[in-house]
Amino acid sequence: MQRNTKIVATLGPSSSDPDTIERLIRAGINVVRLNFSHGTADDHRRRVATLRECMSGLGRTVGIMADLQGPKIRVGKFAGSKVLLKAGQQFTLDVECDLGDSERVGLDYPELVRDVKPGDVLLLDDGRIVFDVTDVEETEVICTVRHGGELSNNKGINRQGGGLSAPALTAKDMEDIRVAAEMNVDLVAVSFPKSGADMRLARELLQAAGSDALLIAKIERAEAIPALEEIILACDGIMVARGDLAVEVGDAAVPALQKRMIRMALQLNRLTITATQMMESMISNPSPTRAEVSDVANAVLDGTDAVMLSGETASGNYPVQTVEAMARICLEAEKFAEVTLHREFLDRVFTRIDQSIAMAALFAAFHLKVKAIAALTQSGSTALWMSRLNCGVPIYALTPDIRTRYKTSLFRGVFPLMMHQYKEMDRDEVLRDAECVLIESGAAQPGDLILLTIGEPIGKSGGTNTLKIVRIGEQWDTLAAGNM
Ligand code: PGA
Ligand code: MN
Repeated sequence: MQRNTKIVATLGPSSSDPDTIERLIRAGINVVRLNFSHGTADDHRRRVATLRECMSGLGRTVGIMADLQGPKIRVGKFAGSKVLLKAGQQFTLDVECDLGDSERVGLDYPELVRDVKPGDVLLLDDGRIVFDVTDVEETEVICTVRHGGELSNNKGINRQGGGLSAPALTAKDMEDIRVAAEMNVDLVAVSFPKSGADMRLARELLQAAGSDALLIAKIERAEAIPALEEIILACDGIMVARGDLAVEVGDAAVPALQKRMIRMALQLNRLTITATQMMESMISNPSPTRAEVSDVANAVLDGTDAVMLSGETASGNYPVQTVEAMARICLEAEKFAEVTLHREFLDRVFTRIDQSIAMAALFAAFHLKVKAIAALTQSGSTALWMSRLNCGVPIYALTPDIRTRYKTSLFRGVFPLMMHQYKEMDRDEVLRDAECVLIESGAAQPGDLILLTIGEPIGKSGGTNTLKIVRIGEQWDTLAAGNM
């Protein structure tokens, strides 16, 4: 059984050695995430080199996603690296404080004093610690601790309800975009965007650095919710970044938002990654909780392209077992995913020729129950359109373009396969090659009914304009007979 839902695994200290990376690939990861909030550029470069070596050894395709840190606001360091805060005590966030103690700590974002006012609620360390702002001075935010606990170096700060003015791309992010482009990553995720303009700026910076990576917007700010449509339209996909989002909008609002975001992204032909705490308990346990199993399965039923692992694979004790468990849950949930051409789909309006072919292909594949859809694609866009609906038929993205092969590794229900460069081939040679590739990969056998989408004349770059439904091998027999 092929798994349609893709798995994104964050690489970190628990998953940087060749042996673990190889086992993660065998367990079924489709994309690795490099978390630029942690580690140095050299750490990421080393992991990418190891991954690429393991991939070529195994002959597998795993995409690489660079996840930028963004304007995560953090407290500074403490003299003893952590303090214990008690409910009711006063605590000050002090822009000028160098090393913190049990009464105050520094801040990496001086503008916080302009963004908050008395009465605001600040959430630290993903909401584990809660402060009420009582007073704001020129360089200090004075708070009363509502929920105390241990606060350690560099923990994050969010304001309940959002509204912090920090721009989505920091100086570090701009540098990291260059590093990511140099590493030739396939996807770049932007943290905390609040508008389409943030994503357009990220795209410009990425292109200026020479990268054509797919751009993912992490939806994790309260302001991003009303701007969802414009953000989605300005990028290639979104991440339901439940960690920060839950802190900003309240945890109870997140499950419904997840469904809305996935539905909207599918309608707008964009990708989705569902992220954070999916298998959290597997950081220290070899099997997931019932609630985690349900969470992963529900994301699959919501229609997400990919489910993501963070600490579980980056710093957990059971990275490989976590991926194995996730893969097993996805496969089982997919049996219950809706396979239908629903009204919403049939009512879609489109004017592009290539998109029309993709839509027609889905309609035909669904009713004829073909064995496979083979999209001969340069850019991958035909495969993307077809994968926005579950028609129950696997979609093979057949491409001579290695970049497209890596990018499509995130698309749900799409399996990238490599073709020969078809610049020098005539049309029949290309179609024969496509059939050979399908047979060799086990996707189909001689005699199977398949559907192909092609851009003709072949070899000239241009959009898909042809749909062909054939039995594998049949037309070549006919040709041979005709030649006799
Ligand atoms: P992070 O983003 O892990 O980089 O914080 C994901 C999230 O907030 O859920
Ligand atoms: Mn986040």
